[in-house]
Amino acid sequence: MAELGQNVRYIKGVGEARAKSLEKLGITTLQELVMDFPRAYEDRRAVKTISELQFGESVCVAATVAAPARLSRVRKGLDITKVQVVDGAGMMTVTFFNRSYVKNLLTPGESYVFYGRVGGRIGAPEMTNPAFERERNAPATTRRIVPIYRLTTGLSQLMVSNAVRAGLNACGDELPEILPAEVRAKYNLAQTRFSYENIHFPRDYESLELARRRLIFEELFVLSCALTFMRSRQREKGGIKIPAPDFSDFNGALRFELTGAQRRAIDDIMGDLAGEKPMSRLIQGDVGSGKTAVAAAAVFAVCRAGHEAAFMAPTEILAEQHYKTLSSLLTPLGISVALLTGGLTAKEKREVKARLLSGEVDLVVGTHALISEGVEFKDLALIVADEQHRFGVQQRAALTDKGDSPHVLVMSATPIPRTLALIVYGDLDVSVIDELPPGRQKIDTFLVGENMRQRIYNFIRRLVGEGRQVYIVCPAVEETEESPDGLKSVLEYTKTLRESVFPDLRIALVHGKMRPKEKNEAMASFAAGEADILVATTVIEVGVDVPNAALMVVENADRFGMSQLHQLRGRVGRGKHKSYCVLFEGAGGETARQRLSVMCRTNDGFRIAEEDLRLRGPGDFFGSRQSGLPEMQIASFVSDIDMLKESQSAARTLMVADPELTAPEHSALRDSVLGMIEKNKGTFN
Ligand code: ADP
Ligand code: MG
Repeated sequence: MAELGQNVRYIKGVGEARAKSLEKLGITTLQELVMDFPRAYEDRRAVKTISELQFGESVCVAATVAAPARLSRVRKGLDITKVQVVDGAGMMTVTFFNRSYVKNLLTPGESYVFYGRVGGRIGAPEMTNPAFERERNAPATTRRIVPIYRLTTGLSQLMVSNAVRAGLNACGDELPEILPAEVRAKYNLAQTRFSYENIHFPRDYESLELARRRLIFEELFVLSCALTFMRSRQREKGGIKIPAPDFSDFNGALRFELTGAQRRAIDDIMGDLAGEKPMSRLIQGDVGSGKTAVAAAAVFAVCRAGHEAAFMAPTEILAEQHYKTLSSLLTPLGISVALLTGGLTAKEKREVKARLLSGEVDLVVGTHALISEGVEFKDLALIVADEQHRFGVQQRAALTDKGDSPHVLVMSATPIPRTLALIVYGDLDVSVIDELPPGRQKIDTFLVGENMRQRIYNFIRRLVGEGRQVYIVCPAVEETEESPDGLKSVLEYTKTLRESVFPDLRIALVHGKMRPKEKNEAMASFAAGEADILVATTVIEVGVDVPNAALMVVENADRFGMSQLHQLRGRVGRGKHKSYCVLFEGAGGETARQRLSVMCRTNDGFRIAEEDLRLRGPGDFFGSRQSGLPEMQIASFVSDIDMLKESQSAARTLMVADPELTAPEHSALRDSVLGMIEKNKGTFN
């Protein structure tokens, strides 16, 4: 029996060269080899006689080589080997291109099974480059369900599957049973050895399914245990204890009554702040659910206790908006608030930094970039990060290095499906604000085609006539040579609207290529009601608050993700006015229409996110930059969600009983959990 950690080079049929190729696929040990699961399977079980063959089908044929193969060199770099094979009732021509070696493998008079696609003519069937093996050998590449592996130069499917076969033979009995017996029994999971055999060389599709189910469960279970494990580790550091303040001043200063959900979130936070460990909490709430007030309550508590807080927004516009909201709320309560953004002069920045260091400023509001670069605090006790999905998990880790284990509060409107939130934000506690402030109306959403454009223009005119304001979002800033037909861009479209559609209305524009100062001015003037229509890119996506805006028009809506559209739609309906969202469907076709129609059916961000995730997969859903999700060998965060829930609950039960996984029967699990943590160091933090 070989060791699982042994190098693949030493197994039968794998030498130096193949080991090198395997290494390119990330496979060096036996264990990695047998854990390199096939990416697909091909069902090669059907066997036919030559006379039964149908043109175009892929099938096995058992036949005898009738005469020695003939090799002809057509030109340099191209040779052809032809061989005639026969069975009781027919004859077939088998052709190989550039495989002169098969000449010596095909012995006249011997029977082989060929698997390939049937070509040729009626009565004269042919196969080109078929897989074949001796009929008397055990089925490996024919007459069975064949695994298809990832490949790289120097490797063929056969080489990999032979290596895996040899690997399983050598170490199959060493594969540890990671899942506790009670978990296996409860969830009806197959055994390890069976699962590895059948994931690679399935006896039939039922066995393959059992194997897959077990291995997926195992992977998700290990992941769930790993997350719990890390969480308990991280919380070993002590935090700054903050007593709950008297909130009557704070509540008095708010212009509204907190909703029940907001109060619950604040209670969660106060519990964390008063506890032994630093807070790591995610506040998840749909757009408009009032997360800012919740964060403000946390800031209030921390500043009242004499410490400093930092509030970070993903964009300058948002930072300024938060600054205004927070300073008008908190300054009257004796908390001094400063803004730190790229818009300030170097001198102003220096001043703010100096006042932070002296403790003169209680709360600083800025962008993530500014606060992470060279800002020092006298006594930082709380970091609030708004709209967390806009920056990576690692940045969050970098921030907690500031100050002495400050409390961290992350706010997100990205309605990450709840199950996934546990993974993406595995190290965070989660409070969900699942209730909108009273009086909010549903935003009526319409998906329209070009034929509706004139009517939409009329509608815009009518709303503006009633005193409302309108956003028009375009996917591009300006037209380029590559711009497809019909793609709206802010610069050109604004010009058209100003010149020929609404010459009498006040139209402003804002986009990401403007300087921060210009952007802010444009936003500010729209917020002040100085423009009727704001033509924009998605820079307005996050957080901007103009309660008088009642219509969001999105051009080429097929260009946007659904969660993004949901964010955009959240820019309207923030005041007392009935609000609308109009999506021009663009050129995306039927699939896009299907996707977009979800927007019309629901205002629930979580449902939209789940649908979005299902349609696009996690890579696109979370953005290509960094998905925040660990890489999985076999499990999918989209299709295996149900199993994820089961494994999470199994892991929770187990980790309550044995939080450090020190029980001897959990030692294999512990190794896997530590391996999972090590492998995902960059993703987890
Ligand atoms: P988001 O969760 O999207 O960040 P905000 O904090 O910006 O939401 O709040 C959206 C709007 O709702 C703001 O204008 C805010 O003043 C208002 N708001 C927040 N909480 C309440 C409440 N409990 N009652 C009424 N209005 C509220
Ligand atoms: Mg917000």
